[in-house]
Amino acid sequence: MVCKVCQAKAQVELRSRGFALCREHYLDWFVKETERGIRRHRMLKPGEKVLVAVSGGKDSLALWDVLHRLGYEAVGLHIHLGIGEYSQRSLEVTRAFAEERGLELWVVDLKEAYGFGVPELAGLSGRVACSACGLSKRYLLNQVAVEEGFRAVATGHNLDDEAAVLFGNLLNPQEDALARQGPVLPERPGLAARVKPFYRFSEREVLSYTLLRGIRYLHEECPNAKGAKSLLYKEALNLVEKEMPGAKLRFLEGFLEKIQPRLKAEGEVALKECARCGYPTTGETCSFCRMWEAVYRRAKKRRLLPEEAQFRPRAEPQRAR
Ligand SMILES: [Zn+2]
Ligand SMILES: [Zn+2]
Repeated sequence: MVCKVCQAKAQVELRSRGFALCREHYLDWFVKETERGIRRHRMLKPGEKVLVAVSGGKDSLALWDVLHRLGYEAVGLHIHLGIGEYSQRSLEVTRAFAEERGLELWVVDLKEAYGFGVPELAGLSGRVACSACGLSKRYLLNQVAVEEGFRAVATGHNLDDEAAVLFGNLLNPQEDALARQGPVLPERPGLAARVKPFYRFSEREVLSYTLLRGIRYLHEECPNAKGAKSLLYKEALNLVEKEMPGAKLRFLEGFLEKIQPRLKAEGEVALKECARCGYPTTGETCSFCRMWEAVYRRAKKRRLLPEEAQFRPRAEPQRAR
C-alpha cells in the first residue's frame, strides 16, 4: 500500500474510504477532515472559544490537539470523578498534555465539590455507576460552559461511539432518544451547544492520529466500563464493518440524513428552570439536583454526612496548576 498523495509507503490504510496515507499526509488529512466536518455542520465559528471535555483518553486529547491546531481557543475541562487510581492517572495525563502545550486546563473535582465521587454515588444515588457518572459529566460540562461564557462544548465522541449509541437506541427503541442524537445540539437558554467534531472518524482512525502525533494518553479503560452494553454494540458493528468496509458510517449518516428528520416533526419539548439550580429541565427539579438530594438523604441515614449538610448546586472550576 502506498500513500494516495505522495506514493510513499502508507502508514494508515483507510479501507472504508478506499485509500491509504503516509504519516505526514495522514496527519494533514485528519486535521482537514475535522475542519470540513466543523464547517459543514456549522459546529464552531472560526477562532471561536470552545470548552473541550478532556478525560485523558485518546479521543479527547486528539480533539484538543486538533482544535488548537485549527486556531480555536480551546480550553480544556477535566472532571475528576474519584474512581480510584484510574481517575488519578486520567488527571495526571491530561495535566501533562496541557502543560507541554501551554493550554489552559480547568478541573472540577466531583468529590471536593459535592462530597462524593462516582464510586460512592453508585451506592447512594440508586443509579448504576455509569448512569450517575454520565449525568454528572453532562451537567458539569454544561454548567461550566454557561457560567464561563462558552457558547459551545466539544466532546471527543467518534463514529464507533455514535454508531453504538444509535444501535442501542434501535435495540431498545425510544423515539425521543433517537430524535436527540446528533453531531450538533444547538444552544438553548441555559444550555451550551454540544458538538462532536470527530463523529465521522472511526475509533481506529482517531487512535492512528493520536499515535502518529505522539500524544501520550491514558490507555486503561475505566474499571466500570467492563461489560458495558456499548462495548457489545461496538463489537457487533465492527464484525459487520470487517466484511463491509464503510458500513458504520453509512449506518450513522443514513440515519441522520434520511430517518431522523422525520422523527423531529413533533418539535422541541419546552424546558423549565430547575427549582434548585436554575438550569434547564423538563420537570420541576433537574435530574442532577434530584440525584444529589437523594444521595444526601441516604448519606445522612448512613451517617456518612452530618444532619446539617446541604446540597449546594454550584461547583467552582479550579484552574489547573
Ligand atoms: Zn504521503
Ligand atoms: Zn438542578
